[in-house]
Amino acid sequence: MPTRKAMQVCPTPGCPTLTPAGPCPACQAKARAARPQPNQRGYNTAWRKASAEYLRDHPWCECHECADLPMLQRDRATEVDHIDGLGPLGPRGFDPSNWQAMSKRHHSRKTAAETWGT
Ligand SMILES: [Zn+2]
Ligand SMILES: [Zn+2]
Repeated sequence: MPTRKAMQVCPTPGCPTLTPAGPCPACQAKARAARPQPNQRGYNTAWRKASAEYLRDHPWCECHECADLPMLQRDRATEVDHIDGLGPLGPRGFDPSNWQAMSKRHHSRKTAAETWGT
């Protein structure tokens, strides 16, 4: 008889799958999907709700470039930017005086500048 690795029931409660060691592949995949992605950085439901409310009152891009333009030439704002660059998890993440409404392309440009330097 060749020795076979003993199969065990998956340690995840309620999962009957037999697996050689640790959680079965299906449970491992589920655990990976449930783990918060690093790029979310606090952009959760509470943040989406707060930023959507802010955008209702601030429909136009408020970046320093658009600030010089007449209202009608500004980009439509679709995202809320943190002026301190720290995101919702920063000390002023939910402080509207730390927010500015931005269009997607202007926000991406600012984020890129913060990441790569200008
Ligand atoms: Zn399992
Ligand atoms: Zn702008």
